[in-house]
Amino acid sequence: MTTDDCIIIGGGPAGLTAAIYLARYHLRVRLFDSGSSRAAMIPRTRNHAGYPDGIAGKDLLALMLEQAEKYGVERQAVRVERLRHDDEGFALATEDGDYRARSVLLATGVVNHRPRHLLPEVHDPALERGLLRYCPVCDGYEVTDKKVGVIGTGDHGVREALFLRSFTRDVTLIAPEAEHALDPACAAKLDEAGIARVNGPCGNYAIEQNGQGEQLAFDTARGRMAFDSVYPALGSRIRSHLAVEAGARATDEGCLEVDDHQRTSIPGLFAAGDVVKGLDQISHAMGEAGVAATTIRNMLGDQRPLWR
Ligand SMILES: Cc1cc2nc3c(=O)[nH]c(=O)nc-3n(C[C@H](O)[C@H](O)[C@H](O)COP(=O)(O)OP(=O)(O)OC[C@H]3O[C@@H](n4cnc5c(N)ncnc54)[C@H](O)[C@@H]3O)c2cc1C
Repeated sequence: MTTDDCIIIGGGPAGLTAAIYLARYHLRVRLFDSGSSRAAMIPRTRNHAGYPDGIAGKDLLALMLEQAEKYGVERQAVRVERLRHDDEGFALATEDGDYRARSVLLATGVVNHRPRHLLPEVHDPALERGLLRYCPVCDGYEVTDKKVGVIGTGDHGVREALFLRSFTRDVTLIAPEAEHALDPACAAKLDEAGIARVNGPCGNYAIEQNGQGEQLAFDTARGRMAFDSVYPALGSRIRSHLAVEAGARATDEGCLEVDDHQRTSIPGLFAAGDVVKGLDQISHAMGEAGVAATTIRNMLGDQRPLWR
């Protein structure tokens, strides 16, 4: 079995950026990707610098892959199932066989929790049309002065509703399942910001027309409500289990802890992008990946010269 210089797990913005850097350092790189990048869900990103008219997430990924392929990287559409660290480096088990590497970069991202009862046949067109959104940092600007619903409660729901309040005065926080769970301080902040509160459960989602255009409508404890855009604030599943099972340190939520060179607590195992604690943004994922790739190159060069 050959040993790669680096195996990258994940082909989103973080993994693809690292692949471009590592291949251009003349290293032997392998990229595994199971094909569910969050970036592929972006109808059109408008805050990613360099694209004045925005770019669809899928198009951005395709351009990055094309760039990586130019330097010899092949994206293998394969899920990595296990990762083990030993004296010689790393052993990986995948759906199609076993592999070895001197270093590993984990760029596996996160998965947003979706509202229960929001079926894919409504979810996907609503997302495509901007009626459903998952990232106020990314697209809060697009809901300026619109009618916005936030499905969530507790600290997380309140934080998201307050964040959105700087884009529009019409924000409602709807509890996903039953009554809101809010401590007095949270309730006071909502009142001060003029954010309405409605109890759940939320259900029976549909895209509906009003005089001005389309809205996402659903049932609540206060009856049927409709919004220009709805943000689920229900947290996410961090895809860090491969590293955590190998012994890497993570936060309570599962975000990998790294130092300022993207090194996890396991020597030779690096992490970048949403799977790491920090701002979940394309630019941040790319920046972290550039740092990780260069640190990997320097680490491998310290172990044995990389002279041509
Ligand atoms: C609706 C929406 C809109 C957004 N809009 C913007 C925006 O406008 N601007 C912005 O900057 N950000 C935006 N984001 C956030 C952005 O998509 C993420 O920050 C970015 O995709 C993170 O990149 P990543 O490489 O860390 O993870 P991802 O892009 O999620 O890629 C991770 C990859 O790892 C793969 N993977 C996971 N586990 C395995 C495994 N075991 N084996 C092999 N492969 C695996 C997955 O299949 C996936 O392809 C948005 C997100 C969403 C959901």
